[in-house]
Order: sequence, then C-alpha cells, then structure tokens
Amino acid sequence: MDKIKMTTPIVEMDGDEMTRILWQMIKDHLLLPYIDLNTEYYDLGLEYRDKTNDQVTIDSANATQKYKVAVKCATITPNADRVKEYSLKEMWKSPNGTIRAILDGTVFRAPIVVRGIEPCVMNWKKPITIARHAYGDVYKGSEMRIPGTGKVELVYTAEDGSETRELVHSFKGPGIVQGMHNLNDSIESFARSCFNYALDTRQDVWFATKDTISKKYDHTFKDIFQDIFEADYEDKFKEAGITYFYTLIDDAVARVMKSEGGYIWACKNYDGDVMSDMISSAFGSLAMMTSVLVSPDGDYEYEAAHGTVQRHYYKHLKGEETSTNSVATIFAWTGALRKRGELDGNAELAAFADKLEQATIDTIEAGEMTKDLALITSIPNPTALNSEEFIKAIAKRL
Ligand code: NAP
Ligand code: MG
Repeated sequence: MDKIKMTTPIVEMDGDEMTRILWQMIKDHLLLPYIDLNTEYYDLGLEYRDKTNDQVTIDSANATQKYKVAVKCATITPNADRVKEYSLKEMWKSPNGTIRAILDGTVFRAPIVVRGIEPCVMNWKKPITIARHAYGDVYKGSEMRIPGTGKVELVYTAEDGSETRELVHSFKGPGIVQGMHNLNDSIESFARSCFNYALDTRQDVWFATKDTISKKYDHTFKDIFQDIFEADYEDKFKEAGITYFYTLIDDAVARVMKSEGGYIWACKNYDGDVMSDMISSAFGSLAMMTSVLVSPDGDYEYEAAHGTVQRHYYKHLKGEETSTNSVATIFAWTGALRKRGELDGNAELAAFADKLEQATIDTIEAGEMTKDLALITSIPNPTALNSEEFIKAIAKRL
C-alpha cells in the first residue's frame, strides 16, 4: 500500500509524562504505517523547555502562524513541586498560555459522543461545543483588601492627563474590591473566531452575558458580537442555514439543560472555564473531549483537553500496567490532519482522519475500551484494555 503524502508540514508539539508515551504509541501504530508524516517537530517536554529557556514554546507558536496547523501533546505547567522534580532554572509559564498569547485565539471544546457512554443529561443528543474567550476579565484582574472606612474609585487617566472617575464604593468598614478589563480588539477576535468556527462546522452560535446588570462591561461584549455579525456574517449564516442567538447567561443555562445540543456556546472567560468542566463531565470524561485553539487569522492548534495524567505515568515508570485513555490525543491528531487536508486540498489525508476517528469510536462501541470508560459504560461486559492494547485494537479496525 502506498502511504498518504503530505505537501505541507503540521507543527508537532510533543509533551510530557503519560501523554508523551501515548503520543509515540499513536504515531507508531496509527499514523506512521499509513502516512508519510510531514511534521515540524518541537519538543515542549519540560526538560527541553528548561534547556531552551522556554524559547522552544515561542518557536512552536511562531511556526503555527507559518504553517496554520499544529497538534499539541499535554504539557506540565510547572509549580513549586515541578521546579524541584525537574531541577528547573525557573518556574516557566504555562505553554498553553504562551501559545494563546501569541496566536490570540478562542478555545473550542467539544465532547466526543460514543454510543454506550451516555451523557447524564438525557435530552443531550448532540455534542455541545464551548467557545471560551481566552483573554482578560478576572484572569487579568487586580484586587485589594480594603482594611476599613474609605472610598474606592476607578480612575482613567487619558494621554493628555485628564481624569475620569467612577465611585466603586464608600466603605464604612473592611471589604474587598476587584478591577478587571478587556479589550475591544480581543472581543472582536473572539466574535470572529466563533462565527468562523460556526461556518466551518455548520452549527448555530449561542452567546450570553449579564448585560442587564453590567450595562457597560458585558453590554460591550453583546454590542461587539452584534455589530460584527451584522457587518460580516449575517448573509453567510443565512446561506449555511445556521443562526446567531443572544440571550442572558441565566436564560442560556436553563435552555442548555433543556436542549438536545448541537450548537456552539460562546462564553466569556470565566463562564467558559466553569461551563466546560460541567459539559465535559456530564458527557462522560475529560478524556472524551476535543480542544482546538482557533486564532483570528485562521491558525488551528489541536490538543487534548486533559493534562499529562501524572498518576498513570508514575505507575508506568514503576513498570506497572496503565489503562490511559488516548481518545482525546488521537482526536487532536485527526483534527490537525483533517484541517491540513482541507487547507491543502488533500482529500486522501482528510479521509484518513475520518477513518481513524471512526475506527476509534467503533472500537469503544464494540466494548473494547480503557478502564475509565469501562467503569461508566452502559455496554454490557466491556473489555478493559491497557494503554497499548487499546491503541492496537483501534489499529486492527483501522
Ligand atoms: P490530568 O492529567 O488531567 O489528570 C487528572 C486525573 O484525571 C487523572 O489522574 C486520571 O484519573 C484522570 N484522567 C485524565 N486524563 C485521563 C486519560 N486520558 N485517561 C484516563 N484517565 C484520565 O490532570 P493533573 O494530574 O491534575 O495534571 C497533570 C499535569 O498536567 C500537571 O502538571 C498540569 O500542569 C498538566 N496539565 C496540562 C494541560 C495541558 O497541557 N493542556 C491541561 C491540564 C493539566 P485517575 O488517576 O483517577 O485514573
Ligand atoms: Mg477550569
């Protein structure tokens, strides 16, 4: 059999711990036998990030802007323990944060729906995709503890030195205060990413804020989305047979619970953080969730939504058997390969991605799965496989 050729490389970002082990297995059993894999390789494993003073992370993000498509393995975000464990020169920043800051994007997360792993919300028939704005709000806030009586104001000092003030509160005793911000540019690119992704995947967009209470802050999100939709997307949406729907966040939550799914739920940064964990666990497992960062320039970075599965890795190091779910990492690869295929007009490559996803789903639906799924499946007498057996079972079907 001739291997499938690739004209343009994919940016390959290798990672850490158990997911790094899965990464190699996926390449060996599921990709390299069928594809002349053309990647530009960046080792984002913590040791090499430390060795290059994290330059490799920046290089990999720049390469993503050049080639448009990247696939990323889960990586360690160092904390004090990791600094000791790896004798790091510095507590390097989160690679995802660094990459997001360079690509300026929106993160889309969608559950992988399989028969036998039913969502605990019974009426959810189709996946719900969360689109999370990845800039600002409380994640870039400044805070103060107020010790006692006194006045707190917001002060804007313009370039000419003139000041605009707004009273936050006249404190009569101790309390707390928080200041946060966002940028019109970033909100605009958030809106465009959501609308582009909706056209790509032919799904409706729902967006919600608390604009009735937050008449300037949240209302600006609402207005920018509406302006951009009317200016650039209304006609394209009509043509594609999809809609844009705005409502209040509490109304959105109520409607989501009663819906059958199948749409993109655009969320402000904090709402997206909270709601994506609710959606993923309601659909079964963090290991059954795809995640892609889409930049306003149309760069795509695919990854798994979970971490490096440290506990399993330590078992693996001791020579013990692991049963780590590789589905999200496989789907990161298929997402990247399909996008590469679409951008290059390489139909064979895109078709391969479809087949690999189907083989993965068929394997689980036939009752062969990793332990995390075997514990929650409605399929009778499932076979719990170890990490490698599961990947080999997919290879057999593929
Ligand atoms: P984690 O790797 O997501 O794992 C947490 C737990 O969830 C695991 O111990 C395991 O439960 C279960 N789990 C997650 N993925 C699984 C899979 N594929 N198959 C089976 N079970 C799975 O989170 P963590 O252990 O808190 O974090 C480990 C490292 O990952 C940290 O250093 C963190 O910085 C990093 N991280 C990276 C990313 C990223 O790169 N996108 C995201 C999050 C965290 P059981 O132990 O009960 O089996
Ligand atoms: Mg979270």
